[in-house]
Amino acid sequence: MDFNKAFYITTPIYYVNAELHIGHAFTTIAADIATRFQKAMGRKTFFLTGSDEHGQKVEQAAKERGVSVQDFTDKMVGKFKGLWKKLDICHSDFIRTTEKRHIDVVQKVLSQLHSKGDIVKDSYSGWYCTPCERFWTEKDVGEKICPDCKRSVEQITETNYFFKMSRYQKRLISYIHEHPEYIRPENRRNEILGFLAQPLQDLCISRPKKRLSWGIDLPFDPEYVTYVWFDALTNYISAIGYPDDVEKFNQHWPANYHLIGKHFVFSFFAKWSLVRMLHFLKKHLF
Ligand SMILES: [Zn+2]
Repeated sequence: MDFNKAFYITTPIYYVNAELHIGHAFTTIAADIATRFQKAMGRKTFFLTGSDEHGQKVEQAAKERGVSVQDFTDKMVGKFKGLWKKLDICHSDFIRTTEKRHIDVVQKVLSQLHSKGDIVKDSYSGWYCTPCERFWTEKDVGEKICPDCKRSVEQITETNYFFKMSRYQKRLISYIHEHPEYIRPENRRNEILGFLAQPLQDLCISRPKKRLSWGIDLPFDPEYVTYVWFDALTNYISAIGYPDDVEKFNQHWPANYHLIGKHFVFSFFAKWSLVRMLHFLKKHLF
């Protein structure tokens, strides 16, 4: 074990369009337990959580309540932080995707990829599901129904920016094969490898501002905002100083664990977190 490197653990950044529930608490408590354990072992730790605040669903949720998007997200984030305080979560940082320190990094990463030719402009026609904020292919939607949320989809053609994900396909496959511990549990790893066995489509990473304005501007085209992939996932590096604070970044990256939901959590921490959760319930509810 390298004791110079901090133990770095992350939760997903939670989406602010709705209230948090026990599933969010479960993942966050698991990260909390792992962090406290490493601290007790004398190790430096960095535990990151935060909020994912852009996108259509957030914009809509604010509209429905008749408040500005900024006010709505501020209020929701206040609730998230209040809950983590109540649960005595020991996170080191809470990153919001609407913070300048995050936006700057997202734009730098996008510029870099754009100048490398990894991001290209193209027109796209497909079936769009508004609640899920994503396009589906003809065979996905069958009877014009979204395979995820089962609501109806509409056909849209628009020009957008695409990330050439296929360029990284081989590299990704060999990395996962060479590092069997990279994705756990094993059935999730196999699921990803199965997905990667098919040709990867270019990934749509933008939304035209006329359809969605609540997002981070593309640094190379002010008519567009970026969309979930680069906006949200970048939090894992923006919070630890990428790219300017090299020392901080090197001390943390790569993360020891990115927790991404109940299945992962179940396989590793179920026993511990249940004990802690029962303790919490006993203290606060009974
Ligand atoms: Zn849907």
